[in-house]
Amino acid sequence: MTRILIAEDEERISAFVAKGLESAGYQTLVVDDGSDALETALSGEIDLVLLDVGLPSLDGFEVLRSLRGQGSSIPVIMLTARTSTRDTVDGLDAGANDYVAKPFKFDELLARVRSRLRDPVTVGTMTVGHGDVSLDVLARRATVGGREVDLSAREFALAEEFLRHAGQVLSREQLLSRVWGMDFDPTSNVVDVYVRYLRAKLGPAHIVTVRGAGYRWE
Ligand code: CA
Repeated sequence: MTRILIAEDEERISAFVAKGLESAGYQTLVVDDGSDALETALSGEIDLVLLDVGLPSLDGFEVLRSLRGQGSSIPVIMLTARTSTRDTVDGLDAGANDYVAKPFKFDELLARVRSRLRDPVTVGTMTVGHGDVSLDVLARRATVGGREVDLSAREFALAEEFLRHAGQVLSREQLLSRVWGMDFDPTSNVVDVYVRYLRAKLGPAHIVTVRGAGYRWE
């Protein structure tokens, strides 16, 4: 049985996440405070931690640093504020394996949980790659054919989403929701604009337009 610790002080969110994870077959444990989160995560009974950034007594970053400082390599997914790129970068620097920005859709969280439980991830390196493109998610470094390319935070997040789903068609709606955390706005062309940026930086052939459906990483 896989046990997931949910460290979240907003009861509305923790209850919703716990319910969803339990129906997906996981056992859950909820704490609403940072020191409890740290103690429980170190107990050896937990397989993965969902860690809110804003927690009482110790915040999410302090919990994470303390965990990693004590040698724990337990997978940690940070729950960050959507508007704060700072949270994301700080969380990854502190040794988080992944992050999900609030508000999130449950399916998105579940996909992250599944993939973090599946990959044997070593703390300090986390690379997703396909063809000649490689992203070091912890260091936020992108390379094409070994050459470093400068991507903005949003470009990086979009490239990461494509690489994690290489070969699959991703609709504009999915990309907008996962990368920007926004509901679909049919008048917005932000996805198309950023796809153009990525094509210019990573090479024109990687992202294919699938007419009427979205984009696919080849
Ligand atoms: Ca909170």
